[in-house]
Amino acid sequence: MAAVRTLGLVVRCHEVFETSLVATVFTRELGKISGLAKGARRLKSPMQGGLDLLSVSDIVLLHKASDALDLVTEAVAVERFAPLRQDLASLYAGYYIAELLSDLTDFHDPHPKLFDAALVTLRHLGEAPLRSRRVLRFELACLRELGLMPALDSCAHCGADVLAEGDSFAFGLATGGILCANCRTGQPHVATLSGQTLRTLRVLNSPGNAWREPKFGSGALGSVRATLGAVISHHLGRRPKMLPFLGA
Ligand SMILES: [Zn+2]
Repeated sequence: MAAVRTLGLVVRCHEVFETSLVATVFTRELGKISGLAKGARRLKSPMQGGLDLLSVSDIVLLHKASDALDLVTEAVAVERFAPLRQDLASLYAGYYIAELLSDLTDFHDPHPKLFDAALVTLRHLGEAPLRSRRVLRFELACLRELGLMPALDSCAHCGADVLAEGDSFAFGLATGGILCANCRTGQPHVATLSGQTLRTLRVLNSPGNAWREPKFGSGALGSVRATLGAVISHHLGRRPKMLPFLGA
């Protein structure tokens, strides 16, 4: 049973027994892990604070074979995202990011780029003007990294190019993205996206800095919020608990 040291973001934590915790940590190198931290709630525990929700911690883990929980033997917080604790909107957005990492990823399936994207997002959630765009960009990064990204440029069913000039588009939640005029009939769970919503989604999903430009109306961001919420709910099989707490 070898000890492994890794950097991880605590995405869920619950109390067990009298003084212990079970923490779910999205680590950079090992992916999501869940570990028992014995005595972590004792007053003078060396792990004090190292397993707080939304802390980035340097943790040491003893990996147990089979289905047994791993053991967390050390946890020292190295980053705490103080601005998240200063207003509720930032904190709720932070909890939403933790929920996505906890519930959309698989155990022991590392995604270092997603880990890095989560940290960059959490560091800037305190800045109100771009907060909702940063959350949307993070959701898109999640979907891309986990292979769940809906098609935005070509038909999800036949692959034909779909030009963004139109007024409205069919979006197949179950098919996995936009649908051309030939494919929309007969597909299950088809929603309608306005042209503005699709164009906004494409900009938010692009590299570079165009997503920061203040040219989207709040209506466009609100419909992107609704669309991505529906996509993520579809993949989770339920609505994320923190979704209703995000401002549009
Ligand atoms: Zn098609």
